[in-house]
Amino acid sequence: MNKKLYVISGSSGVGKGTVLKGFLEKHPEYMLSISCTTRKPRPGEVDGVNYFFISKEEFENCIEQDKFLEWAEFAGNFYGTKKKYINQCLFDGKDIILEIDTKGALQVKKRMPEAVLIFICPPSYEVLENRLRGRHTEDEATIQKRLNEAKIELERAESFDYKIVNDDLKKAISELEKVMGCENA
Ligand code: 5GP
Repeated sequence: MNKKLYVISGSSGVGKGTVLKGFLEKHPEYMLSISCTTRKPRPGEVDGVNYFFISKEEFENCIEQDKFLEWAEFAGNFYGTKKKYINQCLFDGKDIILEIDTKGALQVKKRMPEAVLIFICPPSYEVLENRLRGRHTEDEATIQKRLNEAKIELERAESFDYKIVNDDLKKAISELEKVMGCENA
């Protein structure tokens, strides 16, 4: 079994979801991990598809029972990846992608040094701010929290294996394919 674990991080609003969606449409053989979160679902999000939406109490129980490969608090909510889920995917022989924040990514690298860390960057901080506001899904306080997190994330990205600038969707997807070794697949 020679399956790989890829971790993709990027500041919120950078468009990493769109890059990943484009990538997965071309490469459905990759599994996208579904995280647990205490955040409330956004309109259109479905439990068990976008996230497993759980209570804070349930989340704390999972931490106590050491059920997470990694977890982090992000902008006031908790997010985590269940060990069992990842192990099952790797056991089933699937390459797996985790879309998680940089704190979580660095925890994964500690536990699984073979994991490949990829960071998706905005072309600039201003572009990021405009994209985040343009989504109209968060209030001002939340936007501020996310912008602060974005600065910290850019610093942490220095220790990632690869960085991809998302200034052009097609280009970003093709760079991701190169990094993941499937540009000709
Ligand atoms: P959002 O609330 O916009 O869906 O996600 C906020 C941040 O949490 C994003 O940077 C996303 O990548 C990150 N995130 C999602 N799932 C996980 C997870 O399981 N663990 C960690 N550490 N971060 C996660």
